[in-house]
Amino acid sequence: MSECIFCRIAAGEIPADIVANDDEFIAFRDLHPLAPTHVLVVPKRHLRSLDEIEAFGDAAAGRMLRFTAAAARSAGIATSGYRVVSNTGPDAGQEVDHLHWHIIGGGPLGGMV
Ligand code: 5GP
Ligand code: ZN
Repeated sequence: MSECIFCRIAAGEIPADIVANDDEFIAFRDLHPLAPTHVLVVPKRHLRSLDEIEAFGDAAAGRMLRFTAAAARSAGIATSGYRVVSNTGPDAGQEVDHLHWHIIGGGPLGGMV
């Protein structure tokens, strides 16, 4: 059994509030939301962070972008707007060492970036 929490969610071993799901990716609601809508997009293949994206391959990286946009639509925030963030490494405060993108929205987000 994997030690990685996101691998375990992707494998269905830990429950999550799933927004979108296919063979390669899963999107589920963050346990501690930082915005009215806060969804995490995770590839089912384990990669530590965005810094390993080359190992994923360009086609899979492109599909992850497409899946992310579809997940935002499924969460109902595509029209109102949203932000996508990937914390990568210690200075960004990455807590879970499995590549993931945060989708945050559901209200004005302010001017963080
Ligand atoms: P990071 O700081 O690594 O970019 O973000 C990790 C995110 O994963 C955090 O926002 C945290 O709330 C979320 N998270 C950690 N463990 C779980 C979990 O078991 N389930 C869900 N749904 N989210 C989690
Ligand atoms: Zn993992």
